[in-house]
Amino acid sequence: MTQHLRPNTTYVPRHGTSTVNTTASPAIPSGRRPITTIGLDADDTLWESEVHFVDVEGRFRELIARYDPSDDIQTHLFAVERHNLQFFGYGVKSFTLSMIETAIQLTDGQVSGDDVASIVRWGKEMMHHPVALLPDVRQTVETLAGTYRCLIITKGDLLHQEAKVAQSGLAELVHGVDVLTEKDAPSYARTLDRHGVAPDEFLMVGNSVKSDVLPVLELGGHGIHIPHGVTWEYEADHNGNPDTHGYHVLTAFSDLPEFIAKLQVND
Ligand SMILES: [Mg+2]
Repeated sequence: MTQHLRPNTTYVPRHGTSTVNTTASPAIPSGRRPITTIGLDADDTLWESEVHFVDVEGRFRELIARYDPSDDIQTHLFAVERHNLQFFGYGVKSFTLSMIETAIQLTDGQVSGDDVASIVRWGKEMMHHPVALLPDVRQTVETLAGTYRCLIITKGDLLHQEAKVAQSGLAELVHGVDVLTEKDAPSYARTLDRHGVAPDEFLMVGNSVKSDVLPVLELGGHGIHIPHGVTWEYEADHNGNPDTHGYHVLTAFSDLPEFIAKLQVND
């Protein structure tokens, strides 16, 4: 049976509620400095991204299924994608190369030039797909930027991420944009150091617990997870728990200003 790893990773908040009771959220422990700087993840936090990968994966499975491969297409593709992160990093170009490699492997080299050309064309379409902001993003970023220093912190392909930031119209609202190769604790530490921000003054917001929340908590910062409806298998693979790790979960981006203000209150 064909598995559809990306669609199957549809991410449901794991706390049993669809809304967050902000009054019950822990305030910043006494002695910690107030939050001055908000980091905003981009893909699937500010705008749609993963849905485009899911769409192309569906087309890819249809294309490769015609060759009657013996291995599961989606499972094989994800394994190639994960292996290739060390060579090509994150993003559409890496994904496109992984599709081509998977096509060659699953067809025993029989994939046609026309089909490889289709895969390359899909990659180009993804690179030029219009940016669709998620609900209430612009207004909420405007509000946040009136109180805090806001940084867009994303990872992946520099050309694509910069193009999306430019097209989003959000660059004019934020203090800076950082495109990282990896979102781990050392990368965040270097980014915060570059901006002169202490970790305990910093709060990161994103749809990936693995990339947006846990590394920042590791440094002593704050994290807010806003789950997206669809999450890449790679990002969904983590053991983070809001209760034990001490991060927060919101269902709506528009809740951020009020929620962060409450975090500050009882400092
Ligand atoms: Mg993201």
